[in-house]
Amino acid sequence: MPVFQRIGTWCRTRPDSAFVIVLVLLWVVGTGTRGSDRAARPETAMTDGQQVEARGGLVSSPDASLHASVGTPIAPPSSGSPPASPAIAATPPGTPEPTGLLAAAEVENLAPNELGRIPILEYHDFTTDPTQEDQWTRTIDDFRADLQWLYDHNFYIVPLRDIVVDQISAPPGKHPAALTFDDGTVGQFRFLPQPDGSLQVDPNSAVGVLEDMFAAHPDFGRGGHFAVLPFNCFDVPDEPDQEPYCREKLQWFIAHGYEIGNHTDGHTDLLDVDDERFKATIAGAVAWIEEHVPDADWDILTMPFGNYPDPERHPNQWAWLREGFSFNGRQITLVAALKVGAGPAPSPVSATWDPFMVPRIQAFDEWLARWWAELELEAETLYTSDGNPDTITIPENLPPALEGTFDPTKAAGKRVIEY
Ligand SMILES: [Zn+2]
Repeated sequence: MPVFQRIGTWCRTRPDSAFVIVLVLLWVVGTGTRGSDRAARPETAMTDGQQVEARGGLVSSPDASLHASVGTPIAPPSSGSPPASPAIAATPPGTPEPTGLLAAAEVENLAPNELGRIPILEYHDFTTDPTQEDQWTRTIDDFRADLQWLYDHNFYIVPLRDIVVDQISAPPGKHPAALTFDDGTVGQFRFLPQPDGSLQVDPNSAVGVLEDMFAAHPDFGRGGHFAVLPFNCFDVPDEPDQEPYCREKLQWFIAHGYEIGNHTDGHTDLLDVDDERFKATIAGAVAWIEEHVPDADWDILTMPFGNYPDPERHPNQWAWLREGFSFNGRQITLVAALKVGAGPAPSPVSATWDPFMVPRIQAFDEWLARWWAELELEAETLYTSDGNPDTITIPENLPPALEGTFDPTKAAGKRVIEY
């Protein structure tokens, strides 16, 4: 049960975002002009708060919270009035000419905003029994409804990895979102043995719901990141008959466009362990994943309990998390670390984006009701794709919550287009 939860603050922006933008789209190749005045504006943090994962009676402790500040509000332009603004130039010499650029009319229609927020939902266990639903357990029916809500609101599921390495391939006009699943519970993925010996994905497990949804809606994208545990290979809490399918499930994930992630080899609380244990528990999970699925990535770490090593007590670990480390002659380098809870993630080109502090939205009734309402009200703050992972398209007139948050250094190698 949860023992610690802090609801983050949220800076509301004006809902009247449906103003018409008159556009002139200019493609300007910059030479040495990286770093527009946007970079000099004060950073705006859009989310705050930290939830700590604490299930199964395990002890948890609060983690350091993030900061929160509110951008200086500005009035949105009146309808139809903004003058055409020049594009900014932030593309270094030698950058390949991107393909698949949107025409100006498409930009106007689709209103891409690749500085916006991205919801990354976080699930643990699943049940078909409504009386068992709580913060850590979602009913299958509610999960199905969550996905339907995302689909109905123009979201598009992308692999988590595409977000953390900023290679988001959502169609133009769609809002990318990612789904994460912690702890390898059986409700996430259950096989039903058939009389002929074959295995069917249980339609009442999360993977079954995902497969149904993706099949019914080819324009919904595809993906799901499963942070597995060697001792919980989709057979807990109480279905040991599923244990023999561990390897097959892991391989099925990779064959079907899902991701496997590192959650340490023992759900180790990394707040205060010695250096050897820190390395061994992360590297142990790497070895286990590689032994089962040699071609799987293992370099996104979901922090058990949401806890990070204390940077003052364990400066080595704090650095290793971001820079990598060697263990038994093996180099282990992570690309991202996931928090527990907090809120929507900033864009990978936002000054507030930190791939080693990726916030997520815990998927239970109270929080989803809150965030669904916020995201619906403030749709202009969402990441809206331009359809091209090699370009970053940002409107000139940003909602206040996003003003000044663009960090051009995080768009290195990409064409930046402002309209
Ligand atoms: Zn966990």
